[in-house]
Amino acid sequence: MGQPIIFTVDLEDWFTDGRQIQIDSWGKYELVIEANVYAILDLLSKHNAKATFFILGWIACKKPHLIQEIHAMGHEIASHGYAHELVYTLPEEKFRHDVRKSKQALEDIIGAEVIGYRAPCFSMTWRGLDILKNEGFIYDSSIVPRTCHDLYSRLYERVEQPFFEIADHFWELSLPALSIGSVQIPWGGGGYFRFCPYPLFQYGIRKSISSRNPYIFYIHPYDLDPKQPRRTDYSLLNRLRRYYGLKSARNKLERLIGQFECKSIVECYPLLKQQMNKKWEA
Ligand SMILES: [Zn+2]
Repeated sequence: MGQPIIFTVDLEDWFTDGRQIQIDSWGKYELVIEANVYAILDLLSKHNAKATFFILGWIACKKPHLIQEIHAMGHEIASHGYAHELVYTLPEEKFRHDVRKSKQALEDIIGAEVIGYRAPCFSMTWRGLDILKNEGFIYDSSIVPRTCHDLYSRLYERVEQPFFEIADHFWELSLPALSIGSVQIPWGGGGYFRFCPYPLFQYGIRKSISSRNPYIFYIHPYDLDPKQPRRTDYSLLNRLRRYYGLKSARNKLERLIGQFECKSIVECYPLLKQQMNKKWEA
């Protein structure tokens, strides 16, 4: 068995990133998510691995059976918000409403409590963390060290540990970045995973593990889909980010899941579930 890493999926479809196509018109587009989610589930099952799925509430409401199936397979269900709006662009009340709606929708679907949250495009704010805690979440997984990425939040220059208590009884599971000279490059997955040749990406994972263990990986279902409908509203940079390396991503993912022992967040940190139980006992 390989070295353990945390495996996460940001479960959203090709048109739900909330940039130019707003939620009011999402109903017009074809959902292609299922086949890609099953591809990820099959790879995980083949290697007896578990993952945390951060699920967009809107998608969950469209595909409740898919979410129930993921849950029944023993993977962790967590929230990726409802409408995929960047946290730092939302008034407080709107953010509170979005996370509450997504948590409720997921809990109604799986009949169990949801304790984890990941912000769209890692757009977390300090106030957003307070709101998550007040809404009953036990952990967040949205903080990336300051990098050159234009959308990510800039909460920390560096994050030395992947897992730490960021507020009283509320934990952060931060994403990795690799320092190359004075630049920090996000090294958690997604487009960066597609962009890098596998041996280089894998070298970065091992380098990350040597300084902050465990390593946290993320992928979107569309990262594996060369046939997904193409967005015409994207800039050249966004087209490159979204469509580069789609054809080879599935093979690379299989190599990664075969090489490392993939675990969900609650599997790695049982303390989080214990905290949830304590909350109910209190
Ligand atoms: Zn997302």
